[in-house]
Amino acid sequence: MPSLRTCERCKHFTEVSGPRTSGGQGVCKRFPPVLNPKFVMDSHSPNAAFKPDAWCFPRVQTTDTCGEFQTRSASTIVTPRAH
Ligand code: SF4
Repeated sequence: MPSLRTCERCKHFTEVSGPRTSGGQGVCKRFPPVLNPKFVMDSHSPNAAFKPDAWCFPRVQTTDTCGEFQTRSASTIVTPRAH
């Protein structure tokens, strides 16, 4: 039986859509943004951490889960789009 404690049912999940994403992807907003690992690796400027795209929320799939799960109201559960 599939878990009911997945990101798509969590109140901290926000769906992300765009040209580089497919259905079922989003970000977790349980905690504040973190330094974007890709940005850190690509940037050597001493002020890089102050640029807006240096920070991000962790990417998650709707089927992921973690110990911080909290149920969202039924009316706001995300339904993944077909590809
Ligand atoms: S990673 Fe955890 S806290 Fe974040 S959306 Fe998924 S279940 Fe919720």
